[in-house]
Amino acid sequence: MKAVKRVKDPAVWLETIIKRFINKSPENSLQNEKNEKAWADPIVGFSSGDDSLYKFYKEDIGDFYWTPLEIFTKTFPRSRVTSDQLTVISWVLPHTDATKFDNRKQTVYPSERWARARIYGEEVNVKLRKHVVATLRESRYKIVAPVLSPFCKTKMSKRYGFASTWSERHAAYASGLGTFGLCDGLITPKGKAMRCGSVVAHIKIPPTKRPYNVHNAYCLFFSNGICKKCVQRCPARAITEKGHDKVKCEKHLQTTRDYVRSHFGFKGYGCGLCQTSVPCESKIPTEKDLK
Ligand code: SF4
Ligand code: SF4
Repeated sequence: MKAVKRVKDPAVWLETIIKRFINKSPENSLQNEKNEKAWADPIVGFSSGDDSLYKFYKEDIGDFYWTPLEIFTKTFPRSRVTSDQLTVISWVLPHTDATKFDNRKQTVYPSERWARARIYGEEVNVKLRKHVVATLRESRYKIVAPVLSPFCKTKMSKRYGFASTWSERHAAYASGLGTFGLCDGLITPKGKAMRCGSVVAHIKIPPTKRPYNVHNAYCLFFSNGICKKCVQRCPARAITEKGHDKVKCEKHLQTTRDYVRSHFGFKGYGCGLCQTSVPCESKIPTEKDLK
């Protein structure tokens, strides 16, 4: 069997693979008439497979939740790796200025660009996961995209209701890319109007430093008791000071299906009102952003 390709700086290599795909590939498309980009320039972070946060997630969310080692060994049952030999590679795909501009004006339903990003943009994210997996496998690295695994399931968490066996936002939090907001979205240096993705690979990459100690450090409500703009933006009253009601949110999302089909002519859904026209939309917010 061929040996793995030695790479001088794996972090730079991975970041280049991800950024090049999003910034240069024609696959990054909203599939509208003008073939506009679905996503702006990504940010990338890394965390170790033996980061204690992954064990904490399992305890907090439920026993069904995977550590990086669990999904890796499910995928490669004969491998003898240890968790410290694994790296979680995580990325944030920010919405484009045009998509955010459109969705800021919405009060109940998503704009066309937002709805396209939800469907066709997530297809781009799936292709990106597959591209990263294929590129590393070509160089003989073992790698898996947890959410694309046939083992990936939605389960019921005692604390959080419906939850997946792997969360892209939790991987991004562990990888230094952002913290959670009142509405459950992840506030990143490029804001909360984004989607994220991740893969788990048998490769050693130094973890990205987490510039925060608590899981909701960047949210103005949790840090300063102010803001709550996402509460006002939500047409379903799914966000309160107690957090995000997933059931109410999901009910509203279902009502957007008819709207997307009748107004934009494709099968889709979306909302994202709590992610746009809020101080954390495109950056880590400060009090000044409320003025
Ligand atoms: S809009 Fe305000 S309260 Fe809501 S997540 Fe963003 S910073 Fe927090
Ligand atoms: S996605 Fe829409 S319905 Fe769900 S919490 Fe955000 S604003 Fe409310």
